[in-house]
Amino acid sequence: MQLLDGKATAEKIREELKLAVETRKSRGQKIPHLAAVIVGSDGASRTYVNSKVKTCEKVGFKSTLIELATDISEEELLAKVNDLNLDDEIDGFIVQLPLPKHIDEHKITLAIRPSKDVDGFHPENIGRMMLNLPCFLPATPAGIVELLDRYAIETSGKHCVVIGRSNIVGSPMSILMWRNAKIGNCTVTITHSRTKHLDEISKSADILIVALGKPEFVTKDMVKDGAVVVDVGIHRVEDASRRSGFKLLGDVKFDEVAPKCSFISPVPGGVGPMTIASLMINTLRAMDLKGN
Ligand code: NAP
Repeated sequence: MQLLDGKATAEKIREELKLAVETRKSRGQKIPHLAAVIVGSDGASRTYVNSKVKTCEKVGFKSTLIELATDISEEELLAKVNDLNLDDEIDGFIVQLPLPKHIDEHKITLAIRPSKDVDGFHPENIGRMMLNLPCFLPATPAGIVELLDRYAIETSGKHCVVIGRSNIVGSPMSILMWRNAKIGNCTVTITHSRTKHLDEISKSADILIVALGKPEFVTKDMVKDGAVVVDVGIHRVEDASRRSGFKLLGDVKFDEVAPKCSFISPVPGGVGPMTIASLMINTLRAMDLKGN
């Protein structure tokens, strides 16, 4: 069994990005600038946004954090999005999800200019992804593809099972795995909460991508010997034996599943760091495409 080490791979990508920034600076070009909008004070969202901002600093990007009150109106948030669309200094921006219930997330996503949509959630980017056209890929699936690529995982002709069909992970992930591309060309089965005999289906996977949001849901009986397993889930679970008072778990019961796998991504240190790395890659690309 070999780990799909997202932490080390993301570190390598950060070094590559740092170099890319230096090259652009030496040519008199601007440095990439990512803005992140956060609405309210949800602890998990704040942690995610902070690590995105911190990564910007590490790779030499500029970052702007825009913190807005929970009770901001949809109209005011749309106005903020429009300001960012029009701001030439900002190359790409994200609006951290989830948003408070009184704000329609789809409306906000639609308002983001596709050329600045570095989270890759706008329908134009999703449509272009479907057609295998240049676009910003959603950060988590893109990070997984990058990880599989850097570990030279053969995907062509393999059976890939994706557990979960969310708009940000499962659905785009399934598309990327069946596309006619270097990482792709799998036969894909996408499963969800109404799927019957999930264990039989998951056991037939050469590549199993798990994104259902339930701690340690996938057990050894659900995995084929020699499978490649990518665990997207992340859960903070109380653990009195640790000084922090909690531990992080994935959607896969790592200790019993890992010995059966050819490759497996751990939690933490697997998909999470790759998601942020992809966001940085998208931001650099957004700047390059603008021709700055
Ligand atoms: P989500 O929006 O809650 O979607 C979960 C999906 O799993 C749904 O499609 C749901 O089916 C399916 N599901 C639920 N229970 C199931 C079951 N018993 N059997 C089969 N399918 C089931 O979650 P998400 O946003 O995709 O996130 C999934 C996990 O990944 C979460 O733990 C999240 O924290 C994590 N995540 C990590 C990163 C990262 O960077 N590491 C990024 C994003 C998400 P239905 O459609 O039928 O409801």
